[in-house]
Amino acid sequence: MDHSDFRLTVLGARGSVPVCRSSVFGGDTSCYLVEAGGEHVFLDAGSGLIFAPELSGKAPVILLSHLHLDHILGLGMYPRLSEKGAVTRLRLPCSSAAEAGELLAALYAPPFWPLRLTDYAGRLDIETIPRAFSVGEIEIDTMQGRHPGGCVIFRLRYGGKALVYVTDYEPDEASFEALTAFSRGAALILYDAQYTRAEYEKRRGFGHSTAGKGIELLERSGAERLLLIHHDPHATDEELLRRERELRRADVRYARQGEEINL
Ligand SMILES: [Zn+2]
Ligand SMILES: [Zn+2]
Repeated sequence: MDHSDFRLTVLGARGSVPVCRSSVFGGDTSCYLVEAGGEHVFLDAGSGLIFAPELSGKAPVILLSHLHLDHILGLGMYPRLSEKGAVTRLRLPCSSAAEAGELLAALYAPPFWPLRLTDYAGRLDIETIPRAFSVGEIEIDTMQGRHPGGCVIFRLRYGGKALVYVTDYEPDEASFEALTAFSRGAALILYDAQYTRAEYEKRRGFGHSTAGKGIELLERSGAERLLLIHHDPHATDEELLRRERELRRADVRYARQGEEINL
């Protein structure tokens, strides 16, 4: 990979729980690998993390948008955690690293899981997510989304291009306005499109959005491309293909597990 490249790989784009009925869009939950400037940044650690490519060079950084199960499900089986001496940096929204460690320890411990995260041979460095920070030459800004319990929206900038990651998000007017400004001119927006318009009406308050709102964000922010993510577990390949066809847009697609996008 060239030093000027900025690349996203979809490792899992399913929402809520993994499913095994999809060969086109895939069934693993939220996990995306961003590669730029020699850095490896994972967006969320859903079940897709298990099949992440083996990485050499600097320690990868995993950014968690929030701690719902579908976004941390892959951590316990991430092969790097079992490699003696391998370092993985994990950043999550929390007031202190100690609190973050305690929250993860509440789940990754018997009887819910055989090991604690501190029992693995690899080293996991846990840090909080400040409002703005950087990973090498990747500059990262954040804003708070709207989701039960909260969820962080990320903007990653590298080489004059930006990628915006909007998962688990239910807009209201004020927040959507702020998100539009936050997404201004992005090369790529990943957007939670779990529900159809009709499904959304029945699930207001669940903290998710629709393809229609994603397209509105794309148009209002002047961004270049939109990748729809967090597919509902009940959405079949046929259904998602039909929705995608009906959008009739070359700049919008539903994320497929395994696909790579160069920004
Ligand atoms: Zn989710
Ligand atoms: Zn969630």
